[in-house]
Amino acid sequence: RQQLQVIGDTNQQLEQQVALINQQNEQLVQADKIKDEFLTNTSHELRTPLTGVIGITESLLNGVAGPCNEQQSQQLHLALSGAQRLAHLVDDLTDFHQIKDNRLRIQLQPVAVLPVVQRVFELAKHNLSNPYVELHADLPKQDHVVIADSIRLEQVLHNLLSNAMKYTRRGQITLTVKAARGHVSIAVTDSGIGIAESDLAVIFEPFKQVDGSETRTQGGSGLGLAISQQLVQLMGGQLACQSELGQGSRFEFCLPMTQRPVLTSCEQALNQ
Ligand code: ADP
Repeated sequence: RQQLQVIGDTNQQLEQQVALINQQNEQLVQADKIKDEFLTNTSHELRTPLTGVIGITESLLNGVAGPCNEQQSQQLHLALSGAQRLAHLVDDLTDFHQIKDNRLRIQLQPVAVLPVVQRVFELAKHNLSNPYVELHADLPKQDHVVIADSIRLEQVLHNLLSNAMKYTRRGQITLTVKAARGHVSIAVTDSGIGIAESDLAVIFEPFKQVDGSETRTQGGSGLGLAISQQLVQLMGGQLACQSELGQGSRFEFCLPMTQRPVLTSCEQALNQ
């Protein structure tokens, strides 16, 4: 009888604990929902005024209100790069939440690779401010058509090139495009700080940054690679990294080729 009593008490305690855990679980789910809603609303509220700030600063730099002197131009460039960094972070947060909720929609269609790659490469060259780093492009003579979303493809390339520029103090960064066995492979190779083998698995996780003074001083959100990997997967490819600490890194992804012709913007509109 005593033993039955003990078993009864233990069962009751267990039931109470299970109820408590369920309650805490429910609270966590609710808190997560509130956090997501807050982030979505805040991102939206921040993006609109930021777009305005960026536009006005660019116009001022272009002399819309008369020519700027050296000091004004320096201050405006500072304001512009701060606003662009914030806008980038807001966009990353928005993308991340859409990916997390399976809401991110991409427009897959035949895309000629070289014009996209060249556009991003020229922009990276324009933004490169470190005189000890050289940027090269190793491109095929013949262009290839892949199935992709051109805006998202630009985003992935821009992210990989920006990372290479952030984490390379001196040396070379090379953007390579190759076609093989029904795929086009695009790689960004740098001679930068490299990544330890134990960190290679975590860099694609959201909000993960490798511990180290270099990474911390470069800032960033730790979302770029997580988003890039998801985007490449949504376009039917894979993004991978090979790296050696102190030697450099190589980020490579491939996209399926197609024989279908690239559509004009008019044909695209008719297809929608
Ligand atoms: P962020 O650059 O905003 O921190 P990412 O998701 O783009 O976020 O990258 C995650 C981490 O991976 C970076 O913080 C850095 O530690 C490491 N990383 C990414 N690219 C490189 C690179 N080319 N060389 C060395 N480390 C890199």
